[in-house]
Amino acid sequence: MTDCIFCKIIEGTVPSKKIYEDEDMIAFNDIHPAAPVHVLIVPKKHITNLDGSRDEDLELLGKIQRVAAKLAKELKINDAFKVHTVNGEKAGQTIFHLHYHLQGGYK
Ligand code: 5GP
Ligand code: ZN
Repeated sequence: MTDCIFCKIIEGTVPSKKIYEDEDMIAFNDIHPAAPVHVLIVPKKHITNLDGSRDEDLELLGKIQRVAAKLAKELKINDAFKVHTVNGEKAGQTIFHLHYHLQGGYK
């Protein structure tokens, strides 16, 4: 999608601190971290949010959870971390391309 910042990060036309990529998703550091470790896991398919997902996305959504767990281990935050997605403007969603926040590193 032309006007989507996360699609541009996926294309590589906007820079990011990428920490993971496969055929279905990428993960990069959040530009304004709200935790000592704050990574965004983003499917390459432009889906607006969880409400915009379909049954055909089931495998992708499951895979994101496994990638979150693997990244948590790699980043050594697997003892204490959060994974969440924000759906809709009233809930605080600011980027309308589905993404999951992986946060940890709490002392
Ligand atoms: P939301 O509130 O939509 O769930 O979260 C969007 C997140 O994307 C925020 O935590 C914000 O800091 C992050 N973000 C917004 N623009 C950029 C960007 O251009 N690069 C990166 N790395 N993160 C961004
Ligand atoms: Zn997008």
